[in-house]
Amino acid sequence: MAQVAISSVAKAFGTVKVLHEVSVDIADGQFVVLVGPSGCGKSTLLRMVAGLETVSGGTISIGDRVVNNLPPAKRDIAMVFQNYALYPHKTVEQNMAFALKLRGTDPAVVAERVKRAADILDLAPYLKRYPRQLSGGQRQRVAMGRAIVRNPQVFLFDEPLSNLDAKLRVQMRTEIKELHQRLKTTTIYVTHDQIEAMTMADKIVVMRDGRIEQVGAPLELFDRPANLFVAGFIGSPA
Ligand code: ADP
Ligand code: MG
Repeated sequence: MAQVAISSVAKAFGTVKVLHEVSVDIADGQFVVLVGPSGCGKSTLLRMVAGLETVSGGTISIGDRVVNNLPPAKRDIAMVFQNYALYPHKTVEQNMAFALKLRGTDPAVVAERVKRAADILDLAPYLKRYPRQLSGGQRQRVAMGRAIVRNPQVFLFDEPLSNLDAKLRVQMRTEIKELHQRLKTTTIYVTHDQIEAMTMADKIVVMRDGRIEQVGAPLELFDRPANLFVAGFIGSPA
């Protein structure tokens, strides 16, 4: 686990500024949700933490290291996307083991980590199945399993539930929260869904047009929205 510090981080694509000196502190083990309308810069910020985008200004630290110039593989993070693609010709077990094998991890360690992830995610009975033989929720769990086996310091989620139907989305919210309560891994979770943010977050960061409008615990935002934008966004129906 590690704390993440995002300090005055800016991002421009060419001459277009999409993030303006954004600062967020994420404590060790905290579950922080970045929420805001489509296009406000959530994914860009998360991708900079992951090392998938360069930083135009400011610093990002994970633990006690400034990671601005570190490649993704050296950052000790694992990311789960909305369009997680499982390898169709690999079993559940192989899907979870693949990234570790690529890194040359000892086979006994790989087997032990895959077993642990399968136990945590209730996937043990499905290890020999192929993705096409799984339900949507089981596939989503395999995607999380691939992140868990890497024992990351930080989990990054980018709208992981957007492609699921409403009922499964609610179920997976609970599962992701339970997972966090069990592993206590520092988590940054991006969504445009304010209900998801309110139900999952220890701390919510409300964003708009590349800026932070308010940071606070769900109830704080609910009781004392800083402005009309936050009030409208948090108070709007799903
Ligand atoms: P969100 O995830 O909140 O929907 P994004 O971070 O994807 O928002 O995008 C923020 C802004 O940056 C948008 O205006 C988007 O069009 C722009 N943007 C994102 N990626 C690129 C890119 N690679 N090149 C140019 N503009 C981009
Ligand atoms: Mg996005």
